[in-house]
Amino acid sequence: MRKNRVVIVGGGFGGIYTALEFEKRRDPDFEVTLISQDNFFLFTPLLHEVAASDLDLTHIINPIRKLLRRVQFFEGEVQSVDIAKRQVVVSHGSDLHRHSLEYDDIVFALGSVTNFYNIPNLAETAVTMKSLGDAIGLRNRLIEHLEEADTECAANDRMSLLTFVVAGGGFAGVETIGSISDFVKEALRYYPNLRPEMIRVVLVHPGEFVLPELGEELGRYASRKLAERGIEVRSNTKIKAVTSDGVELTDGAHITTRTLVWTAGIAPHPLLKKVPLPKEHQRLKVNGAMGVEGYPGIWALGDCAMIPDGHGRYQPATAQHASREGRVLAHNIVANRRGEDLIPFRFNTLGLLASIGRRTGVARILGFNFSGFVAWWLWRTIYLLKLPRVEKKVRVALDWTLDMFFTKDFVQYLHQRSAPFVNTPITRSDIGPNRDTDRLTMVH
Ligand SMILES: Cc1cc2nc3c(=O)[nH]c(=O)nc-3n(C[C@H](O)[C@H](O)[C@H](O)COP(=O)(O)OP(=O)(O)OC[C@H]3O[C@@H](n4cnc5c(N)ncnc54)[C@H](O)[C@@H]3O)c2cc1C
Repeated sequence: MRKNRVVIVGGGFGGIYTALEFEKRRDPDFEVTLISQDNFFLFTPLLHEVAASDLDLTHIINPIRKLLRRVQFFEGEVQSVDIAKRQVVVSHGSDLHRHSLEYDDIVFALGSVTNFYNIPNLAETAVTMKSLGDAIGLRNRLIEHLEEADTECAANDRMSLLTFVVAGGGFAGVETIGSISDFVKEALRYYPNLRPEMIRVVLVHPGEFVLPELGEELGRYASRKLAERGIEVRSNTKIKAVTSDGVELTDGAHITTRTLVWTAGIAPHPLLKKVPLPKEHQRLKVNGAMGVEGYPGIWALGDCAMIPDGHGRYQPATAQHASREGRVLAHNIVANRRGEDLIPFRFNTLGLLASIGRRTGVARILGFNFSGFVAWWLWRTIYLLKLPRVEKKVRVALDWTLDMFFTKDFVQYLHQRSAPFVNTPITRSDIGPNRDTDRLTMVH
């Protein structure tokens, strides 16, 4: 008998944990393929630690092929899904040629994208914090600005070079600003022309206090702690416009800066627009078992799905939920093929934790509030345990241990080729900082 073909699109928390459950089950009746545009699984909760040089960039990612031994992996970008023909079109390779993969069951696990709310110039200017490339880009930017600001010729530009603005007071924004502040202040001692009072770190947040998900007490505590270490927390305001020299806020203030980190919103994955399936708030509308009603064999989870929580609301878009949804969804796909009962996904958030810099954290776990060093220690311990694979856990634990003895590293991650010698020698400045290999071969 032909095996049941399951295609999972997206190798993030939802997709990987669905695939891992299939791995565990070793069910010979199912042939499972996971398609993702990167060949690694990114552990987003630790992303800001890469941006701030607390962790090596490869330590928070896991190669998908090391995670999955029986589930097949296909690295490529999903271009379209033909619901009627039950086909996924994927492009890959250097020429981006296309493949069609047929399925009996498909799992949409595409996650979300950054929402720029149509603010002019924002998408072109802002640094986002969603991918590994974003974290590396931010780290490079911080270092590049310190280097430039330290030179005498940049004396007039120092203010904008050394002002770092983060928009969004949710988890990603607060953790990022805490990390940026620690990183820049620690690096300062190696830049003789720079002084602490030249650094300005600003958090722009639309609410009264940051981290509203953790409640008022912890949110106000976090706001106070950030302010105590010199971070300017601008509450009740938003980014209104991006100007040639900085940003304008809705309260009328203008901040001169060359760095805006945007963590202020997510939007549904654009591919979802192209699939003719029921949606709610532009995300795929599924039932409690994560199946799309009226479309057998079509499933969705994570940030790209609206999953009812059984209390008249929907499951939140978090890694904590997506990973658990994956395990239940794999069970449901198997049960559905065997004509057995499906399980609705039910899960109450266990806790929320955030690190806010300088070994300080805030956490609400099983209804109890924690703050300060204890919360930070819980944050590190829990995420270390959650990080997949022993090898990566050991590497992260070592990074954190060494961190107690050495200062942060601030070398830039550069990816250009060294300058080749052609007829006339060329220098790195001829090539420019961001030229890629293809362009380099054109230099004569
Ligand atoms: C900086 C940051 C910090 C966070 N911290 C926390 C935290 O502390 N705790 C928590 O619970 N949640 C946290 N989250 C949220 C959490 O990361 C998401 O809710 C979770 O990743 C959602 O899982 P997902 O599988 O739906 O999407 P994702 O994990 O985003 O996975 C989507 C996958 O689809 C792939 N993909 C996208 N488009 C295509 C395409 N066209 N073709 C092929 N592949 C594609 C992507 O490469 C990715 O692998 C954080 C998020 C960010 C950005």
